[in-house]
Amino acid sequence: MHCPVCKHPVSAESPHCPNCGYPNRAREGKWTVLKTVYPPEDLLLKSMLESFGIPVRLQREAIGPVQGLTLGPLAEVKVLVLHHRLEEARQLLEALPGEP
Ligand SMILES: [Zn+2]
Repeated sequence: MHCPVCKHPVSAESPHCPNCGYPNRAREGKWTVLKTVYPPEDLLLKSMLESFGIPVRLQREAIGPVQGLTLGPLAEVKVLVLHHRLEEARQLLEALPGEP
């Protein structure tokens, strides 16, 4: 493949373009749901996982505007991590105090 920014050849194993440093999206793989949580746990998990170097995406269910609603299906947030980091993220979750 080639870098989408500078067209420099990028190996599939390389995390970044060696020329301009652009992240190699093909290497990232697909995002997988780690856990479905309610706010503010989504932000807590995100900052915790990111502090261990695991990239996190939050996906809110776009059913409608949530006005002051913090519980219930409308407020569900899916916490996604990259597939190849899933096991690592799960182990970190298990190590959290208060988790079974
Ligand atoms: Zn580049």
